[in-house]
Order: sequence, then C-alpha cells, then structure tokens
Amino acid sequence: MTTPATARVRDALSRQPSISLATLPTPLYEATRFRAALGGPARCPRILIKRDDLTALGLGGNKARKLEYLVADAQAQGATTLITTGAVQSNHARMTAAAACAAGMRCVLVLTTTKATPELAGNLLLDRLYGATIRLVPSIDPMVAVGNDDPVVAEAADEERRAGRTPYVIPVGGSSAVGVFGYVSGTAELVDQLATAAIAPSHLYYASGSRGTQAGLTLGAKLCAAPYQVVGIAVSGGEPEKIERAKRIANEAAARLGLPERLDHPDLITDQQFIGRGYGIPTPAGLEAIAMLARSEGILLDPCYTAKAMAALVQHARAAQLDPAGSVVFLHTGGVPALFTSDFAAVAPDTELR
Ligand SMILES: *Cc1c(COP(=O)(O)O)cnc(C)c1O
Repeated sequence: MTTPATARVRDALSRQPSISLATLPTPLYEATRFRAALGGPARCPRILIKRDDLTALGLGGNKARKLEYLVADAQAQGATTLITTGAVQSNHARMTAAAACAAGMRCVLVLTTTKATPELAGNLLLDRLYGATIRLVPSIDPMVAVGNDDPVVAEAADEERRAGRTPYVIPVGGSSAVGVFGYVSGTAELVDQLATAAIAPSHLYYASGSRGTQAGLTLGAKLCAAPYQVVGIAVSGGEPEKIERAKRIANEAAARLGLPERLDHPDLITDQQFIGRGYGIPTPAGLEAIAMLARSEGILLDPCYTAKAMAALVQHARAAQLDPAGSVVFLHTGGVPALFTSDFAAVAPDTELR
C-alpha cells in the first residue's frame, strides 16, 4: 500500500540513480515479549522494530540503504574505487567494502584507531576478508577514535589516480546529500508498512552518529507525512556542527529531488543523554538493553549504536513518558559485528552477561 505522500516521494526518488545492494523491504516486527519485559500493555506502548539490521549486504545495517545511491552515483561518475573513512570498527567501512565487491569496484578504507595494532576481529576482520586496502590513522584521543584522516584520504585518492583508476570519496558514515536518499526511501518504505498495518506510532527511536540517517529520516518524515516524531539518540558529541551538516545535506537532497520542503535546526536536535563516556564506549544501560532484547526476543543489538538508542526507549518507557495505549518504532540500524570483538567481551562481564 502506498499513500499519496509516499507515492510522490517514490516518484522523485525513481529519477535518482541507484543500484540494488540491500534486501528490501526489511521486516517490521512487533516485539511483544520485549514489551512484556518492560511491564506489558499496562505500562509500555507497542514496540515495532524496523529490522534494518537485516538489509543483508555484508551482514546488514543502515549503510546499505545509503550505499544503493552512493555506489550508483560513483558509477555514474565513472569511478572505479570507493574510498571512505571511519573508526577501526566502522560498520559503514565494512558495508562499503562489501558494496565495492558487489559492484565490482576497488575499496580503500582510512580507519582511525586508538591502538597501535588493532585487533583483527569484528568489522576490521570483514574489511580484510572483502579485500579492502586499509590505511590506519592513529587517534589523537587515547579513548575515542578521532583523527585527522583528510590528508590520508587525499593521498589515497592521488594514489588511485596515479594508477589509472578513478576514486569516489564517500564522507564518513556515507552522510552526503546522495546518501540521504537512502533514508528518504527507507521512510517511504516504513510509512507504507505502517499504513498497511493501520498503525500510527507516536515516536521513531534510532541511534544518530554522522547524521545521514537523521537527515534522511527527518526529511523523509516530513515528505511522507509520517505519523511519528523522529527521536535521534546521539552516540557521539559535536551537536552544533552536526546539526549544520544534517541541515545542509538534507536540504541539498530535497533540492536534488526537486521537492520544495526544507529542514531547519529545531527539526534536527538529538538527545545527548545516552552517549556515556564517548563514541564507541559501552554504557551500563546499553549493555542492559542488549541483554533484555536478546533474552526476550532473540534479537541482537550492538554496544556502540543501537544499545544506546534502545537504552533511551527503555528509560522513557520506565519513566512513563510514552503512552501505553500507543505504539513506537525502533529503527534497528545494525552493527552486530561489534559483538565479536574483545572490547565487547571485556565489558560484558560487568553486567548480567556472564
Ligand atoms: C552508522 C550507524 C548509525 C548512525 O547512522 P548515521 O547516519 O551515521 O548517523 C547507527 N547505527 C549503526 C549500527 C551504524 O553503523
């Protein structure tokens, strides 16, 4: 079922180049046992999980939707090599490496690490398996992966050109105007699923990092007349610059789609309460959310992103901030390979995960 609003958005998106990389639509799953764990219908709204961890490309996640447009744009420009950046355990990097293989392209990853020799596990192991060329950048912060990767990206692009290849640089997280199309499209998919099921959730919770997902979800909600309020739970700081980035890429995406809607600052604020000590550092509430969802539904969250977003939903439900007669959507953006790292194994015993 499509609505008049989603039909207009789908029509505008159909004029943008895209390639098929993800298995879509992803399921919209009602988590009744998880709701029961939060006190059941008397205390907690219906919880619908949009399973974008099941987009399938390279073990799935939200970046698959962005890459369908980014890789098509790269190919339209005659590119042969995808170059992108991220932390050493970046899901975006892993999915870009997978997309390059699926599209018959080369991939160079510029990854920031806090360790001299990062552990070959989780996403980094998969990056290697996909045959990506990896350039490591040391972090300037011993706790959190932040580094100056721009010069290394420029160097990698030059090297590709010297070898007669054509690079296409994807910004961190795939968060460019072209990447935004992914969650405009994802929103049309979700709004149609909700219309078919005759459910009008009050909120959509998701984990917000580099903001491409936010820009797409927020623009998409406006364009598709979504019933819900978009609730971004930040996993890293830098809110003022990131709001600017989200606004810029969302509005550039709307302009490219030939649609008149635009976003402004108040639409793009995220909740900073669940970051904990920093990007990639697990929180006790996040670890509790991982255990709760795994044990009630068999569904896995990741410690870096989705656990923190689910911790917010759990806290809001427990604090009776959500109407038990209503419903909410949780967008599961993926990230599960991070469970298979010694960093996760090291924190798991701090919780009931024994
Ligand atoms: C990248 C990522 C996000 C955040 O998406 P952004 O578009 O970077 O804000 C959320 N969850 C997971 C698992 C991710 O890998």
